[in-house]
Amino acid sequence: MDTVSSKQRSKNMAAIRSKNTLPEKLVRSALFKEGLRYRLHVKTLPGTPDIVFKKFKLVIDVRGCFWHGHANCKYSSTPKSNVSYWTKKIERNAIRDKRNSSQLKTMKYKQFIIWECEAKNPQFLVRKIKTIVKYVKDKKSVLELKDR
Ligand SMILES: [Zn+2]
Repeated sequence: MDTVSSKQRSKNMAAIRSKNTLPEKLVRSALFKEGLRYRLHVKTLPGTPDIVFKKFKLVIDVRGCFWHGHANCKYSSTPKSNVSYWTKKIERNAIRDKRNSSQLKTMKYKQFIIWECEAKNPQFLVRKIKTIVKYVKDKKSVLELKDR
C-alpha cells in the first residue's frame, strides 16, 4: 500500500501543478521590467499558457522540471516511491505538452518554453528574456508597418 493517502497525494499534485510558481514569477517580473504587458493563464488557448501576448501570437510556458519531465535535469528525478505511478503521470503530461504545442503551432502561435531550472539561473533567464523582448519588438514593428 502507498504510504501517502490518495487524498494527500492529490494535494501534493495540486501543489505541484499550481500556477504562479516561483519560476513563473521570476519570468513575469523580468518581462514586466522590460515594459512588456501580457495576459496570464489564458484558458481559451491549448494548455492554458502561463503568459500570453495575444496581439503578437506569442505564448510563454514556464514548466516545472519534475512535473513536465525535463530530460537530464537534476530537478526532474522521479521520486523513490510510487515510481510507476509518477512515471506514467509525467509521461502523460509530456504527451499533453506535445499536443498543446502542435495545436498552438497550427494556430500560428509562437511558443517559448522556459524550464524551472532555467528560470532559476539568472544569466540564462536574462538571455532568454532578451530573445523574447526582441521577438515582441520585431512583431510590433511588423504590425505597425501594416497599420500604415
Ligand atoms: Zn530542468
